[in-house]
Parts: sequence; C-alpha cells; structure tokens
Amino acid sequence: MLIVLHNWATDKDVELVKKTITSLGLKPVAIPGAERTAIGIIGNQGWVDDAPFRAVKAIMEIIHVTKPYKLVSRDFHPADTVVKLPGNVRVGGRSPFLVIGGPCAIEGREQIFRTARFLKKIGVRVLRAGAYKPRTSPHSFQGMREEGLEILDAVRKETGMLVVTEVMSPEQVGLAAEKVDILQVGARNMQNFDLLTEVGRARIPVVLKRGLAATVEEWLASAEYIVLGGNRDVILCERGIRTFETSTRNTADLAVIPLVKSLSHLPVIFDPSHATGKRSLVPHMALASVVVGANGVMVEVHPDPEHALSDGPQSLHFKEFEALYKRIRGLEGFVKKSCCN
Ligand code: PEP
Ligand code: MN
Repeated sequence: MLIVLHNWATDKDVELVKKTITSLGLKPVAIPGAERTAIGIIGNQGWVDDAPFRAVKAIMEIIHVTKPYKLVSRDFHPADTVVKLPGNVRVGGRSPFLVIGGPCAIEGREQIFRTARFLKKIGVRVLRAGAYKPRTSPHSFQGMREEGLEILDAVRKETGMLVVTEVMSPEQVGLAAEKVDILQVGARNMQNFDLLTEVGRARIPVVLKRGLAATVEEWLASAEYIVLGGNRDVILCERGIRTFETSTRNTADLAVIPLVKSLSHLPVIFDPSHATGKRSLVPHMALASVVVGANGVMVEVHPDPEHALSDGPQSLHFKEFEALYKRIRGLEGFVKKSCCN
C-alpha cells in the first residue's frame, strides 16, 4: 500500500502515519519526492485494511499496490536510481551510456589481461568474464571457478578496470563479492530465490538478467528480492527471450526496455550477444538499444573468438568491438539531443 499525504502535511502527520503502520506489525518506507510526501508499506502478505488511516486528515490518497513488487517500482521511488560504481563510473538516470565488454568465460590469465588492456585503451571501464559458467551440457567447459576469480582480482588491481562476474549459487557470493566489483545473476538463475536473497546481502551492485522465459513482472519481482534484502544497486539486463523463432539464439525484446523503465526506477542494460547469438547482428542490436533508452550494454568480445571455449560465434573481434564502441559514443550524443528518451 502507498499512502500519499497532502503537501501541507507536517512532520507530526508523517510520524503519525508511520506509527500507525508499525502498530499494525508492518514496515513504513519513506518515498522521496520533491512534489509529494508519500509513505509505502511493506511486510504485508496480502491486502492491508486502510481503516486505521481514514481518520488522518493529512492523507490525500491511499493506493493499494497489487503488483508482486514494490520497492523497485516507480510508485515507491519515482526518481531514476543511479548505481554508483568505483572510480566514479555510474549507470542509470542521465549518466553516460555504460559499455561493458569481455569474453563469455575466463579461459586464462593471458586472455583476460589482453582483453582488459584492449578495453582500457579504447575507453571502456568495465570488463565482464565468467568464472562460474552455467552450461547446458555438463560436457561443455564449466569455467575456471575460483581460479578465475583470482585472475579477475589480479586484472582489476593491475589495470584499474572494474569487473563483473556471474554467481550461480549462494555459496559463491561471499568470495566473488571480495574479488569483483559487480555480481551477475544469469538468466537461468533469475528465479533462484536463495541466490537472490544472498546477493541482496552483498554490498556491491548486481546485474540481474531476465530469465529465458520470464515475464517483466517476474523479472521485477526477482529484483525485489535483492532490494528487499538491502541491496538497492540492481541493474536489470534484458538478454532476449525464448520464442518459436530459432534463427536467432533468443528473441531480442527491445520493447521491454522503455516499458521496464516506466515501471521501475532501476537502470536497464541490454545484452545483444546472448539476445542474438550471432556476431553479425550484435552491433545492430547494441545500437538499437541506445535508441530505445537502455542505460548501457554488455557485449561479448574475445581476442580469438574462433577458438573461444564458450560463445565464440556471438563474440566480437577486438576491431569490431572498437568500431561498435565508437558508433555507440556518437549515437549516444545524437539520441540525447534529438530523440526519444
Ligand atoms: C553470460 O552472460 O555469459 C550468460 C550465460 O548469459 P545469460 O545468463 O543471459 O544466458
Ligand atoms: Mn556467454
């Protein structure tokens, strides 16, 4: 439930509303906003009876929220969330479009250091690379796991790049959070609720990918787990969904980017690599995501995609990535001046 107060409401009125909420065994959440004073209620598992509030004159409106998410919704937090990363890197709101690049998986020190140095040289600040890999077949390369995390820790210390890596189980979160700057929950684990609860306890940002067959509502409800756990720094990532179409690896659902941005205050980025599965389509879709208002992209790039241990066919060569990066920076300026957001 959401309680909106008249703009003449005093601090005393606000306190009275908060006390009433607490007396019902529920939790008040202050909702910041220049134009209105509002208080959200969390902790209820069903309908909240608004009778105890009806006598409070300072209340202008009582809104029953029936969605399975609250804290991540625009109703509860009208302004855009800007996630702050180390080194003054930001994502969300009016921050510059964030470009994240790197291989699907960590394959060794040399591969990661080469990629990190290349990215840094062209101006990219965030490196992605998987240590724990969710693979469809148990016969496929499963990732370098803890050894991979050590490589990421070394590369960020030596190059100053920020690093993002996926965690697949709650047990991996503690160690990974010490070795990297951003955690990733992958599409296959979007509804691994114990994992969501654990990354909710982490004190570093989390990229939450949309599940392969998840609705927007389910995706936002998963983000709610993380925020409710105390971690507000959630970055949503659209990565394509399963449809009848098999000519692309997934179907890029770009329409949800402006949609989710209207429903939620969280930043939304796009992964054109998994959304298409085809290197030739990645630049087109990455550029399209700038136009529809994404806050950033995460793109797979590899020093030798033909010999990559995972996702080679969708990974860009360095030259292709550099060309895309320049086009993104150009398009970003144009979109900010003249377009759609
Ligand atoms: C990945 O980012 O390498 C990955 C496995 O992505 P997704 O979870 O979107 O399939
Ligand atoms: Mn991948």
